[in-house]
Amino acid sequence: MRSSKAGAELPVRARDDDAAAWLRDWVRGLGPGGTHEARRADVGMFPSRQVLGVLRPSSVAQVRQIVASAVPGVALYPVSTGYNWGLGSRQPVTDRAVLLDLGRLDTIRLLDTTIGVAVVEPGVTQGLLAGRLAGTSFMANVTASSPHTSVVGNAVERGVGLRRQRWEDVAGLEVVLADGTLLRLGSWPDERGRVTPYRHELGPGLMPLFAQSNFGVVTAAVIRLLPRPRAARLLRLTFDASRLPAAVDELRGYLGQRLVSGVLKIYQPVESEECWAYCCVDGDPELARFASALLMRHARRSGLFDDVGEDVPDDELATQLHHCLTGDPSLNEALLETWFGAGAAGVDGNPDTGFLFFLPLLPFDGAAVARARTLVREIAAETGTTWSPTVNAISSDVIDLVVSCRFPKASAAAAHRALDLLHERFAAAGWRPYRLDIEHMDAGGPPELLRRLKEVFDPLSVLAPGRYEAVPPDPGAERAAGGPS
Ligand SMILES: Cc1cc2nc3c(=O)[nH]c(=O)nc-3n(C[C@H](O)[C@H](O)[C@H](O)COP(=O)(O)OP(=O)(O)OC[C@H]3O[C@@H](n4cnc5c(N)ncnc54)[C@H](O)[C@@H]3O)c2cc1C
Repeated sequence: MRSSKAGAELPVRARDDDAAAWLRDWVRGLGPGGTHEARRADVGMFPSRQVLGVLRPSSVAQVRQIVASAVPGVALYPVSTGYNWGLGSRQPVTDRAVLLDLGRLDTIRLLDTTIGVAVVEPGVTQGLLAGRLAGTSFMANVTASSPHTSVVGNAVERGVGLRRQRWEDVAGLEVVLADGTLLRLGSWPDERGRVTPYRHELGPGLMPLFAQSNFGVVTAAVIRLLPRPRAARLLRLTFDASRLPAAVDELRGYLGQRLVSGVLKIYQPVESEECWAYCCVDGDPELARFASALLMRHARRSGLFDDVGEDVPDDELATQLHHCLTGDPSLNEALLETWFGAGAAGVDGNPDTGFLFFLPLLPFDGAAVARARTLVREIAAETGTTWSPTVNAISSDVIDLVVSCRFPKASAAAAHRALDLLHERFAAAGWRPYRLDIEHMDAGGPPELLRRLKEVFDPLSVLAPGRYEAVPPDPGAERAAGGPS
């Protein structure tokens, strides 16, 4: 494990008293429901960060006031619902942060089921949005995670839904900057609620600066919905792991020729040599029927697959995926119960099972996927841990390899050693993660330019210090005087 940013002994400074007083004032000011006990448990078992307290604003105006009034010594770490499991959950990156829990901002401000747009606040869960869309001709791009997770939180992390990467859903962002300024970027509804949900801005796009960043607090997003397909079929293609390279290359062709909709998944259970590919075929019922027959014909002709079946009964995974692909995340909670003996609220505090993610991107290439599988297996064997790689083909050229580990909490050290090795060895192979945990934060852009941008948006580094920063700031370092008061 990289040397922890947590737990460092910091000298007591007068400004700590100012920060404590500021926090007390805000807890009092927000009134009932404005705070809760900082939950220390984290299912990833990353080293515990020191959290000074939690603020739970209930309006955008309060968010603006909190951020603008932060005194030196206060770092604010915004979370939406805080279920970033496997990557740090709701733990901040650095010590001595105040959590800005946006869960009470839970309004769906607009739902347009003509064009297919929703304007949602950070506390709006994917379950809530899916429920409001039931029976309409639109659906949300839901993930395989709990229905209680946030649409905004996952989108700003560039999470992956069953249909596409969540950031692609975002057409507009409402952002509070460190000085309390409120910005609306991208496409926003006019006063009559009409919006053209175009994802790009005229000129240099500013919206992408607020994904995987610490330049602002997102208080709402304009989310593009997806037309609900009139028919959705799920095909399962099974094959032996020895045929993984050829099967992956064959499947790439299906995606490239638009035989498959959404994210194609390949599960490679560690305990067996059998791999399962799940392909969604959908749209107009006749189109789905033809595409399904065509895909099955290609799959059988390739000779690569042992079994090719459609809407396979008694396959719980297929049932869950089918629900997700049609915009319904409600079955996902049952998986949490099976894995952690608890629903969303109890995952982090469960007494037995830890959970970690490693999320590298690979080219959509059979040889690369097979090599990655070998790397994962070698590291698992070396550390005595169990990791499962699942292929999420997010396009016909890019694979998000979801490498996850469930471990007995008593074996946390081995699991974290394996996580470090995964980072090292995949980097050596030229494959970088698309999303990071709190112990391996880094940034892809030129550090000097990123530092200058941070100075523009948040000169006192009040917001989420260390988040996607190449060199996290020292949380104990003095800030320049004269900040917002
Ligand atoms: C069984 C299982 C299945 C999963 N499946 C998926 C999956 O299919 N796809 C996937 O992507 N993930 C998946 N996950 C991981 C995780 O649960 C989800 O990504 C979840 O949506 C993240 O938690 P959240 O929505 O509460 O976001 P949060 O934890 O609230 O946010 C994530 C991070 O984004 C930043 N942030 C959040 N809100 C704001 C804001 N308003 N302003 C500024 N910064 C902000 C914070 O740094 C925060 O730490 C899965 C996990 C498990 C255990």
